[in-house]
Amino acid sequence: MASKLELNDLIRRDNFIDGKWVAAASGKRFGVTNPATGEVIADVADSSEADARAAADAAARAFPAWRDALPRDRAAVLHRWHDLIMENANALGRLISLEQGKPFAEGRGEVLYGASYVKWFADEATRIYGDIIPQQQRGKRMTAVKEPVGIVAAITPWNFPLAMIARKIAPALAAGCTVVGKPAEDTPLTALALVLLAQEAGVPPGVLNLITASRENAVPAVAAWLHDSRVRKITFTGSTPVGKYLARESAETLKKLSLELGGNAPFIVFDDADLDAAVTGLLASKFRNGGQTCVSPNRVYVQSGVYEKFGDMLAKRVAALKVAPATDPDAQIGPMINARAIDKIARHVDDAVAQGARILAGGKRLDALGPNYYAPTVLLDATPQMQLSCEETFGPIVPLFRFDDEAEAIRSANDTPFGLASYFYSQDIRRIDRVSRGLEAGIVGINEGALASEAAPFGGVKESGYGREGSKYGLDDYLSIRYLCQGCLE
Ligand code: NAD
Repeated sequence: MASKLELNDLIRRDNFIDGKWVAAASGKRFGVTNPATGEVIADVADSSEADARAAADAAARAFPAWRDALPRDRAAVLHRWHDLIMENANALGRLISLEQGKPFAEGRGEVLYGASYVKWFADEATRIYGDIIPQQQRGKRMTAVKEPVGIVAAITPWNFPLAMIARKIAPALAAGCTVVGKPAEDTPLTALALVLLAQEAGVPPGVLNLITASRENAVPAVAAWLHDSRVRKITFTGSTPVGKYLARESAETLKKLSLELGGNAPFIVFDDADLDAAVTGLLASKFRNGGQTCVSPNRVYVQSGVYEKFGDMLAKRVAALKVAPATDPDAQIGPMINARAIDKIARHVDDAVAQGARILAGGKRLDALGPNYYAPTVLLDATPQMQLSCEETFGPIVPLFRFDDEAEAIRSANDTPFGLASYFYSQDIRRIDRVSRGLEAGIVGINEGALASEAAPFGGVKESGYGREGSKYGLDDYLSIRYLCQGCLE
């Protein structure tokens, strides 16, 4: 196979189990649609428990050899995979745009972002250290070594179809685990393409297995892994209710869990903020992927003294954003993922307006463009009673809440069960220290809207989950510690 591929060469329709592309045992398939048009792009395997079990069987057979492979050999495979992803960044970016809808520049950006995790963990594979514990007794030596947890089941959402699965597979393989995976039913093609490149990079048969399933069949298929005692870890990115379900169901076999769940990120603008920087930071964090991002600001709190001015500055910039299909080179916001997403956005805006919110920009569907488009929207006079205050909107809506003092802003920001990302803008160094300690969130952006990096620990607190992806901590979730105590040494 040539290493540089066109988009069509990257499309795979079958499951990847034990190094082979195989149809679902039932022979069933389901269609993947382009959210910009509603047209079917391809049909893929609609897997069941039988396929999930076959994937786990393959992962179990492959585990001993992969666990015992030299770290530098595992690293070499991951480096080759990284290089292939980079060589095919344009085609992968186009595939992401096609099935997920984000503009091509963002799709390609996601490829580079996902690839950065593969490279990071390829390097980390060779740096998994243990400890020699200072001697406590004569004749006894105590050491702690780290070893892979075993088979990892990776379940991912549709909003970053490449990055979310790459940042699970890469640390798992680096640690010496084998993987069974299931991508979201809306966007399975990118994950299949990624696995195709992993195959070309030389990942041995059974080390990485991927099955696809419709939402209906995903539940029993994943349940087969949840109840399989050989699967030792679940790594999940998705909504909080599904994360809680996975935690409950896997409790029977006490699996290790990493849960990257929903957010409801606050973004606070203090009177003393650099307002231009705050508007730019808000645009960058809010409108990435049209607001369909777990770290996307959902509630924007603006201090009374700058409330109207900030609203006007923001509305001008938001009204200028170009909404268009991903294929338009000038597109800044594409379609939302599906009809359910659009309906939720419209429900949130309608509810806010009914409760007194004023529309400063947008506030309507853009049906002339296609079935799933919504205008980027700025709402004034948002209140905590509105649905958009307590639910994650996951769309291009910016509600502006007014506040008077710092304590009130922190209290409001923390008044949510979630705790993934948070942001604030201020130029007062003492306030920066206080607020960055006061916010209940795993990630805090201080005068900065773009937070993601493979070198930083990404993850939440409260009902946004636990576990960290990326950084030097990112491997810990895939490792367990073995304590060795050797006696009779004197
Ligand atoms: P989702 O929870 O509906 O689905 C996520 C995955 O779980 C999909 O693969 C889906 O098929 C699968 N799934 C759903 N129900 C299941 C069940 N009962 N059993 C087994 N598998 C099941 O989430 P989504 O709509 O795809 O993604 C959006 C959500 O993901 C948002 O809440 C967003 O905040 C969150 N998210 C979080 C992060 C993070 O890092 N914290 C990143 C991206 C997205």
